[in-house]
Amino acid sequence: MSLFVRFRKKPVDLQLLDAVIPRLPPNYQSVLPRLKNAASRLQKGYAGEKKLDYHLHQLSKNFTVIPDVTLRWKQQPFQMDSLVISPHAIHIISVKSLEGSITFDLQQRILIQESRGHVQRYECPITQVERHKAFLMKWFDQQKLIRRPIYYWIAIAETATQIKVNPSTEKIPPYIDYVENIPYKIEQMEANNKHHHPLDTSVIAYQTKMIVNHTEDFQTNLLKKYKIKLADLRKGVLCRTCYRLETIYRYGKIHCKNCGRVPTADILATLDQFMLLHKISTIKNEQIMHWLQINNRHQTLRLIKNIGLQKVPNCRKWQLENIDKKSLAKVE
Ligand SMILES: [Zn+2]
Repeated sequence: MSLFVRFRKKPVDLQLLDAVIPRLPPNYQSVLPRLKNAASRLQKGYAGEKKLDYHLHQLSKNFTVIPDVTLRWKQQPFQMDSLVISPHAIHIISVKSLEGSITFDLQQRILIQESRGHVQRYECPITQVERHKAFLMKWFDQQKLIRRPIYYWIAIAETATQIKVNPSTEKIPPYIDYVENIPYKIEQMEANNKHHHPLDTSVIAYQTKMIVNHTEDFQTNLLKKYKIKLADLRKGVLCRTCYRLETIYRYGKIHCKNCGRVPTADILATLDQFMLLHKISTIKNEQIMHWLQINNRHQTLRLIKNIGLQKVPNCRKWQLENIDKKSLAKVE
């Protein structure tokens, strides 16, 4: 089984949309369909990437997988869905989660999706992975790392998706395939390269560490894009059973007006959203009071104690660091 050096997190943009959508005030309703659309697209993409992770686990132990890698070459960020580090090469994998039929137009270099009577055009994934390969090579030079052969793959997440190329006389390039076939093809390519001398394992380990240490969380400037002002967002604890903000404080606990007591995980997730939106890692009493819509400082402190926030030493701030972040994630 291959080694995964980090676990795939829910995309930051999707986390932001999850925080923003239920908190939009009425005067923003016109933007809501676009936000929901973006969230559903990201959710589909995320599901496809997790499917890829599942299949990449099948690779043998000589392979290291780094999911969701964003690196920067001269200020320019480039995001790759997965990198597979093998003894002989590096494999960049891009996942496409598109339904219906998709046509790779090899001449115009575009991707055309036809689904439920709709036709949509996208940037060609081939151009995209070629660019990622070029960037990754430059990044290796920038970091003064030993260059390695770089291959790329375009993994189609849904087996129900029909893959076509234009002109139809051309064959589908071998690096485009359904997600479940990718590990086998990578192993096969590795077997073909066996006669080449592999790089020393300590050098490979060093390169892997460098990539992991330099990777950042990819995000677009979502709030700016949709012209959403943070101050306009509705406040309160989000009950994740009903997806409503109608909650009240009562005797050190939070209750949802619709379904009863709100679990601690939901309160922590609400605080996590505040920190994500404000790009901060610690939170002050007043911010907690305001964001959770609690009446006074005394009640706020009582709630903080109940949910077990960790105090930052020597200042009046709190952190979620000691709380297992995975427990905040609802079934995705
Ligand atoms: Zn509820």
